[in-house]
Amino acid sequence: MVARSPAGVEMRGPRQRLVEQLREKGVTDLAVLRAFELTPRHEFVPTGIRHRAYEDAALPIGNGQTISQPSVHGRSLQLLRLTGRERVLEIGTGSGYQTVLLSHLVDQVFSIERVAPLLDAARRQIAALDAKNVSLLMGDGTVGWREYAPYDAIIVSAASPDVPAPLVAQLADGGRLLVPVGGRDAQALVLVTRRGDGYDREELDAVRFVPLLGRHGWTP
Ligand code: SAH
Repeated sequence: MVARSPAGVEMRGPRQRLVEQLREKGVTDLAVLRAFELTPRHEFVPTGIRHRAYEDAALPIGNGQTISQPSVHGRSLQLLRLTGRERVLEIGTGSGYQTVLLSHLVDQVFSIERVAPLLDAARRQIAALDAKNVSLLMGDGTVGWREYAPYDAIIVSAASPDVPAPLVAQLADGGRLLVPVGGRDAQALVLVTRRGDGYDREELDAVRFVPLLGRHGWTP
């Protein structure tokens, strides 16, 4: 059997250069930067494009989907102002990369993906990296995951025509929901914060995500 070099050691140089780039692009939250340092992005991209894994670029992961650009993950995770104690719901597991970033940043991660082969690959990778605080569900994330609600933070990794109402309903008091909202080709990152029975809504960066397909998103 060939010994596999530990993910933490492999490609450490390129990973540190990526962290440096993220810092230059405004990611200053030390816990977020540390999560990037700990997470081997090359394990989440197809073998043929591994050499590009530490570019600050979105890359294809199959099934017409992409692993998001690291600086977009960095900015989003920073906007959620995580302290380590949260229970977080992620919609759109995709490669599972951001799921593992989250596993380093919060107490419990719940993540939903609608494309079965992507979820299977993500599940294998998450297990290989020994992230034990992650629960995965195959299905339509626009309806949320009621069983474990409320969530301190919800992060949607695909773009929706509107803020999905069930997700807002599953926020804890003080909880934050980050979701790209807009047309199919261009969106704004929207941050919804629950305050008692009311909600604050802020429109932030212009972004471009793949469509959120489901009951409270775009029609599949
Ligand atoms: N953060 C992921 C992003 C993947 S792209 C990564 O970096 O790898 C967005 C993902 O959202 C795709 O895998 C897509 O299949 C998934 N998706 C789209 N609509 C969804 C829905 N309603 N429920 C769950 N996942 C959905």
